[in-house]
Amino acid sequence: MPELPEIETVRRVVGPQLLGRTVVSVRAADNKVLANTTPDGLSGMLTGRRFASMGRRGKALVLTDDLGGRTVIRFGMTGQLYVCPRGTEEERHTHEVFFLDDGTELRYVDPRRFGRIWHFRSGETDTSGIEGLGIEPDDPALDSGYLEARIGRRGTTVKEALLDQSVVAGIGNIWSDEILFEAGICPLTPCRELTGEQLERLVHAIPEKIAFAVESNAVSSGDYLAGKSRKYYDMSPLKVYGRSGEACPRCGTAIVRNTVGGRSTCWCPMCQTR
Ligand SMILES: [Zn+2]
Repeated sequence: MPELPEIETVRRVVGPQLLGRTVVSVRAADNKVLANTTPDGLSGMLTGRRFASMGRRGKALVLTDDLGGRTVIRFGMTGQLYVCPRGTEEERHTHEVFFLDDGTELRYVDPRRFGRIWHFRSGETDTSGIEGLGIEPDDPALDSGYLEARIGRRGTTVKEALLDQSVVAGIGNIWSDEILFEAGICPLTPCRELTGEQLERLVHAIPEKIAFAVESNAVSSGDYLAGKSRKYYDMSPLKVYGRSGEACPRCGTAIVRNTVGGRSTCWCPMCQTR
């Protein structure tokens, strides 16, 4: 599943391609990808609209149009979003196509259909789940006091707390493991046992690793289109995730793997302590 860095890549590549473009027409499939509207509804609300901005909250993209309407896109497991010239061969599982005034098309492709698209008129209550998200990893409000207040009394593991989107938005399975390695904290540590110093290390590791991930994931618009926005996993910058049995890059001890909170989790038993 794409995490914040991959969605930020989509925003950085696709956002500028859509800015100022007007939707000429919409072709939408009648399936569960449309969360709160119908194909006709989506077409009615977006045809003639001009895209004013593309933002991101956690793992969701938010497209705002000239009337203040908001299209929220969550990518699920296999969602892809890209702009291509008209006439580009259409992939299977292309569910939504937005025809734009410069002859390009914005396409949403999703083989497994766990992604969702919402449209909200200006002022309409956002029911996409964005309202319940925690702060962004780079929010200056992320300090040890914030973490202490949000997770300090929890008996669940710190790994689960990092995956909880209502604490810090956008962190998924890969980068939670990398953040905990950076912070030197065992993922099994119950939140209420985290020391002040460990919370402080998390406060630094979270924005640092996410910024590193965004940077590592940067791609040119040409390469992005060639990959149809599918470049979700580049393993090379990862230090522990997916590396069980390999040597810890810091101390050489074999990385271990276990299931924590239902998710496969990797860590160094020497560098990461409780
Ligand atoms: Zn180690």
